[in-house]
Amino acid sequence: MLNIVLFGAPGTGKGTQSELIIKKYGLHHISTGDILRKEIERKSPLGLQAEKHISAGQLVPDELIIDMLADVLNKNTDAKGYIFDGFPRTIPQAKALDKLLGEREIAITAVLSLKVEEKALIQRLLKRGQESGRADDKLEVIENRMKVYREQTDPLRDFYKKNGKLVNIPGDGTVEEVFEEIVVEIDRLPF
Ligand code: AMP
Repeated sequence: MLNIVLFGAPGTGKGTQSELIIKKYGLHHISTGDILRKEIERKSPLGLQAEKHISAGQLVPDELIIDMLADVLNKNTDAKGYIFDGFPRTIPQAKALDKLLGEREIAITAVLSLKVEEKALIQRLLKRGQESGRADDKLEVIENRMKVYREQTDPLRDFYKKNGKLVNIPGDGTVEEVFEEIVVEIDRLPF
């Protein structure tokens, strides 16, 4: 079973690349950001709680995210494999993911880490904000999200490097170039 974590700072193209990976490999897409945005739209209790954190550029608390993820896994037990997009973002989330997958006798196959220089990321996100109107794609919030990424999420690269799962992918080419690189790496994996 192929289970991929797509890892990278905000704006590295995780969502775009996930769509392409799903099409080619038939995986089930789990984007915690997309799920949270839907909850906000529905004005559910989870959405209302999450919105406060998202609009400030902060992470939604681990307990909420981990429960939400367990629920998604329970509802999609027949998936051929999963792609985790925007999750995990903290060490406790990474440990919880190992545990949740372990209980199902599956594991992460690889963590694909997309790297793009921060300056370029900020430009990409500002552009996305203008085009899509996504509320957290404005400068003050973007700067906070980058800080949160550096402090809480980037250390995960070391966590996955130590367990041999980390695969680095340069993320500054075109969508097609980055995807080609991803395909080369996925096709090399033992699954
Ligand atoms: P994304 O669409 O992945 O950029 O996520 C948008 C926002 O949702 C983030 O800035 C966080 O506030 C929140 N979020 C998404 N995924 C997570 C996660 N795994 N842990 C905590 N917060 C998250």
